[in-house]
Amino acid sequence: MGAPAIEIGPGIYRIPTLGDFINSFALVDSDGQVTLVDCGLKRAPARIVRGLESIGRHPRDVTRILLTHAHNDHAGGAARFAARSGAESVMAHTADADYLRSGSMPPRDATTGIGRLIGRLPAGGFSPVHAVTELQDGQLLEVAGGLRVLHTPGHTPGHVSLLHPDSGVLITGDAIFNMRARMTWPFAAFCTSFEQTRSTARILADQEYSTAAFTHGPEIRGTGRTAIRDFLRRKNR
Ligand SMILES: [Zn+2]
Repeated sequence: MGAPAIEIGPGIYRIPTLGDFINSFALVDSDGQVTLVDCGLKRAPARIVRGLESIGRHPRDVTRILLTHAHNDHAGGAARFAARSGAESVMAHTADADYLRSGSMPPRDATTGIGRLIGRLPAGGFSPVHAVTELQDGQLLEVAGGLRVLHTPGHTPGHVSLLHPDSGVLITGDAIFNMRARMTWPFAAFCTSFEQTRSTARILADQEYSTAAFTHGPEIRGTGRTAIRDFLRRKNR
C-alpha cells in the first residue's frame, strides 16, 4: 500500500482514497487549519482520516471542505466526513449545489449510447450534503494563501478545477484524468455534456502552474502545465 498522504507542494497533500484512482487533497494553512478538496466514495473518510493523521492533522482541523463536483466518487464521503470535521458547510459551485443537497447525480450525456443506457438505470446517489456554500467562477478563496475557483462545466454543470498559485499546483478535478500515468478525457457517458467538458478544459491551458494534480491518477510535477497543454493541443484539434 502507498503512503497515506503525498506532499505535492508546500503545505498541499494528495490523499489517495482508492489507490491513485480516487484522490482527495488537503491544503494546510500556516495556522494549522486544513481545507479538504473532495471526499471520495462512501467509505473514503477512513482513508482521509489516516492521510490527515500522517501529516499530524485531525479531522477537526478541517475547517473547510470543497467538492469539485456532485458525483458519488467525490461527494460520497462528504456528509460523513463533514460531521466529524470542524467545517460548518461544504463548498461547491452553485450549479451543482442542489444535486449535493438532494444527494443525486446530475444528468448523463444522452448523445452517447452508453450515457442513454445509464440514464435509464436507477440513479446512483450519495448521502445528501445539507449545508452547501455556493461558489462562483473566478472566486479567490482565502485558503492557504489563496485558492482560485475555475468553473470547468461539462463533466457536471457545476464542475470546478482549482488553482493554488502559491504552490504552483492546479487541481484539474475530473476535467482531465491521469489514470495509469496517461492523460485522458473523463468517460463521455459519465459527463453531463462531453462536448462542453472538452471545450471548457481549454481554460486550463491558460493558467500558470507547474504541477498538475488529478482527482483520478497521480500528479505531474514540474512539467504539469506543458503536459496539459500538449494533451489539449492533441485532443482538441
Ligand atoms: Zn470522478
